[in-house]
Amino acid sequence: MDLVTKLAANRMLTSDEFQNLMLTEDATLRAKLFRFAQQVTALNFHNKVYLRGLIEFTTHCQRDCFYCGLRCSNKHAERYRLTKEQILECCKEGYALGFRTFILQGGEDHFFTDNVMCDIIYSIKTLYKDCAITLSIGERSLNAYKMFYDAGANRYLLRHETADSLHYSRLHPPSDSLETRKESLYNLKELGYQVGTGFMVGSPYQLTEYFADDLAFIKKLNPAIVDIAPFIPNKDTPFRHQSPGSLEDTLRLLAILRLMLPHALMPAAATLAALHPNGRQHGILAGANEVTPNLTPANVRRKYFLYNNQASTQEEKAENLRFLNAQMKNMGYELCIDRGDYVPETTP
Ligand code: SAH
Repeated sequence: MDLVTKLAANRMLTSDEFQNLMLTEDATLRAKLFRFAQQVTALNFHNKVYLRGLIEFTTHCQRDCFYCGLRCSNKHAERYRLTKEQILECCKEGYALGFRTFILQGGEDHFFTDNVMCDIIYSIKTLYKDCAITLSIGERSLNAYKMFYDAGANRYLLRHETADSLHYSRLHPPSDSLETRKESLYNLKELGYQVGTGFMVGSPYQLTEYFADDLAFIKKLNPAIVDIAPFIPNKDTPFRHQSPGSLEDTLRLLAILRLMLPHALMPAAATLAALHPNGRQHGILAGANEVTPNLTPANVRRKYFLYNNQASTQEEKAENLRFLNAQMKNMGYELCIDRGDYVPETTP
């Protein structure tokens, strides 16, 4: 049995097999991987691509992750915070455009205390009862996760970044730990969140064998959302001279993940579009099923720089939804404005 058939049947491979599939130059096998991933997406999602509105509400961050433009040591980063009113304004505009999920993303900024976050979450949910809120604000206490959930948050994105602890320590300062990150993910899941995890493809010092560890961790966690995308260097970080991640690796991983977790939600992240003009389309064809246009107000959007070349494409902007719609239609996919919650597989 070839590796793709085996992966589709078992939804898992051994570490060596994963590495072989990542490295194979067998064009037939590669084509089969993408064909199978597309078939599974068509079967489970009927080629619907869910729309999520990204609100980058703060560029302040107390962490110092070596790869990220928001890191506190970056003296060149332009810092801003949106007020609650500005965040609600983003939701209002988004709602009118058809968005039914708002992703609140930012640095780890404790200006937004647990109570302040609860107030924002609760206010959004009061005004837009039929919308889902996704948080992407890094690590907080278990109690904070519970408060946010009770206030109305539905989903939480927290990439594990890498499942190898040595690699983790080469991407983060010594104060950060992979164990804490993983523990947060299990806690979030336990609380009832639709949890998203993932990693950067092609981050510095990453080895092919680490992909297998990442995939094994994701399989074990069994998250609702898997968010992987290429690393892109930021010129104001210690990784400024590193190379960006590879489109091919990212697409293979997306297709592998689609076969491992056939029901997972998977964004075709903006980083894909920043890496390649058709990156997003390729991501969808590899099995991704979410797009995340930007609802952040235009006057501050230029300042949110995790990586360079960000938000360079037109369809990144929520205003240009029609363009995105046409793009999806051309590919045989349908941009879908449903809330698009994770629906776990029911065992017959
Ligand atoms: N502070 C929050 C969320 C914001 S960063 C958190 O830590 O979860 C969201 C994601 O952007 C990170 O998890 C990281 O994987 C990604 N990211 C950061 N810098 C990047 C870069 N230079 N290239 C690509 N992705 C990057």
